[in-house]
Amino acid sequence: MSTTGTIEDQNKTVAEVASKLFGAQITAHDVIGETLERVTDDTLDLNAIRPLLAARIAAGRHEWKGFDDFRRDPLAVWMELTLGIDLSALEKPKRAAPCTLTEAAARLSVDAGIDTSAADELLRSFLVAASALRTSQGRAPFAFKLHQFISGPGKVMTTLEPEGTRHITLDAQRFAPGRQQEGVLLFAAHFCRECGQEYHPVWRGNDGHFAPREIDDLAADDADGSGKPTWGFLAPRRSTQNYGGRLDDLPENWLDLTRAEPKVKPPYREAVPQDHLADATGRTGGGQPYWFIPGKFRFCLNCGFLHEAYGRDVNRLSSLSGEGRSSATTILTLSLLDSSLPKPTCPRAYRTRESSWASPTIGRTPRCRLATSTTSFTCSPCVRRWWPRSRLRAAPSPKSISRMRCSRR
Ligand SMILES: [Zn+2]
Repeated sequence: MSTTGTIEDQNKTVAEVASKLFGAQITAHDVIGETLERVTDDTLDLNAIRPLLAARIAAGRHEWKGFDDFRRDPLAVWMELTLGIDLSALEKPKRAAPCTLTEAAARLSVDAGIDTSAADELLRSFLVAASALRTSQGRAPFAFKLHQFISGPGKVMTTLEPEGTRHITLDAQRFAPGRQQEGVLLFAAHFCRECGQEYHPVWRGNDGHFAPREIDDLAADDADGSGKPTWGFLAPRRSTQNYGGRLDDLPENWLDLTRAEPKVKPPYREAVPQDHLADATGRTGGGQPYWFIPGKFRFCLNCGFLHEAYGRDVNRLSSLSGEGRSSATTILTLSLLDSSLPKPTCPRAYRTRESSWASPTIGRTPRCRLATSTTSFTCSPCVRRWWPRSRLRAAPSPKSISRMRCSRR
């Protein structure tokens, strides 16, 4: 909110904004800031430790007999006073201005009289070694964590235009920028947690047009008096999707298989996806091909993943920023680790019968997913998920069941 001036100036600015926000008088004295505590020996400053750096670096490895030993290490003092806290002003310690590893290595090379590549290597090895240390209170010595530099990007919005030309933005607004006169709407995009297929929550007007909806905004199922839901989801229609509009593309438990010809069970009849053409203003009858899923999100049209009947759509589908800052950091870290491990290189090669890998939706043969295991992976070109074949249980398709019944008769 304010980074200029003294701490008092900053607190005054924060107090003024807070007074406007909450409609109550808040003084600069009421503003609580953070208190930083120096970890290394406070009798040592940069001038005192600079002459000791060369000998310390020549000694080599980063090992300390205890935390007090670490507090007096010239390199630890340099790190804290250069990268951690700023004691230059006659105020309480401030966070040091962030700098890149390259900039920090350049500073260390000057202060210690070593070349920058050696300084870069030294910085990395020192920070890794120091991260394993704990203070007497059980805290890491340097409190600055990665997640201070990460924040969620918010919601992603897109127009209902063809892939590649549709407008995509992170700024939540009703119309595409500069296209309000044309009535070009922006729709929130939520994604299948299994395959990434995008879904747009929509209202459906009595005249059939689509309008953007917040995913948690629901209407009574009979709101327009016709008995049909007036809300649901739009998904771009693509030839590669598992769902193609055929009866046997629907989840097996939606079908009544007791008859010679399978039929959709009554509770699911209103939930069967419908194909529509919709243009950028949400009008139907022209534009791009979409599936409209009336009501709640129940199964993914792309990968076939089926959800339980209960639960909120916001939990079934992921948005661009579904996590808090801390979870986002964890996910980024795990992704980095995951990307460093070897992966099957050509997923399409796993489609052969002899392969030990299979997708539950391959060849449109429904397969039980009860054994979903953490060893699955997602194919990047075709976005299908693959499991070890031994973990999937094949289920007979509705057609093969009817054939079985016929042969018995
Ligand atoms: Zn999916």
